[in-house]
Amino acid sequence: MSHKSACAAVKMGASTTEIQELPLPDLQRHPEGGLLRVEATGLCGADVMWYSRADEPTDQPAILGHHIVGVVEELSDRAASRLSLAVGDRILIEEYLPCGTCVLCREGDYRFCPQTALGDPGALRYGSTPVATEPGLWGGYSEYAFLHERSVWHRLSPETSTEQATLILPLSNGIQWVQWDGGIGYGDTVVIIGPGQHGLCGVIAAQAAGAANIVVLGLPGDEGRLELARELGAAFAGVDTAAALEMIRDATDGQLADAVLDMAAGTTATLEFGLDALRTGGRLLAGVWPAGATPIPLRKLATKRITLRPLRGHSYEAVDAARRAVERGNLPLDLLCT
Ligand SMILES: [Zn+2]
Ligand SMILES: [Zn+2]
Repeated sequence: MSHKSACAAVKMGASTTEIQELPLPDLQRHPEGGLLRVEATGLCGADVMWYSRADEPTDQPAILGHHIVGVVEELSDRAASRLSLAVGDRILIEEYLPCGTCVLCREGDYRFCPQTALGDPGALRYGSTPVATEPGLWGGYSEYAFLHERSVWHRLSPETSTEQATLILPLSNGIQWVQWDGGIGYGDTVVIIGPGQHGLCGVIAAQAAGAANIVVLGLPGDEGRLELARELGAAFAGVDTAAALEMIRDATDGQLADAVLDMAAGTTATLEFGLDALRTGGRLLAGVWPAGATPIPLRKLATKRITLRPLRGHSYEAVDAARRAVERGNLPLDLLCT
């Protein structure tokens, strides 16, 4: 290996980046991993949010980027055996670095493992662990990332384009949140608040699931994304909540929506809108939760028998499903590449 250092974009503080040369890990000292040559890393809504702020989870200098695609460049014997990988393998890695032995890990819910909890000192996670935690290369906006033996990886076909490979994780969230957590299937009506990358991947997942009506709400300034939502299959994409409600009522003969996903605000106002848009027994899914307490309209929630649940990351199965969907090549993901 000729390189001795990696060029990395280190987030130093709110909206501040420094390009730094960081030493590559010495695998004699770090037998718990290897080296991933980063091919590309997608930009997540979380990266944008964390970049603009100085608080947790990136209150210390860190390399952002957790939708990481790369090629295994070097592995310790221990990591090669733990990971069942070899030099030259092309993979994507999830952001989680779970312990693999706690109850949550053993039950398959490794994304909730305390050892990979976001912002917890001592926990490890790609795209937010500080550079001060050795060996420092914990993010995708770098030439190389440390491939820890606790990594959760997925093998990529050589035919999958770099751009589409970086969209597998957002698509997995769309599948997990819309189809599996939201229960959206054939003939259903779903409302997605927030036309960002994840909202649009939610539209793709809803369309693939056979949803009859896909409604997307955004803000003034989101016109390009709302147009894209329509192109991806949304029957309604706009900023007017009253018009959206009227459309949902008309399209469902007054039955209203089966699921509402809030991927944008996490305010009482969006919860209120969601409750108005949902049928009795519908599902309200909270994808963002601002700091502080958000009052919940409990009476309306209870009288309509609404299930409120948070959206938190993706399961292994969802990433695997997204990877296979991308490999089949029949999803319009190229529209999302900018
Ligand atoms: Zn992400
Ligand atoms: Zn665990």
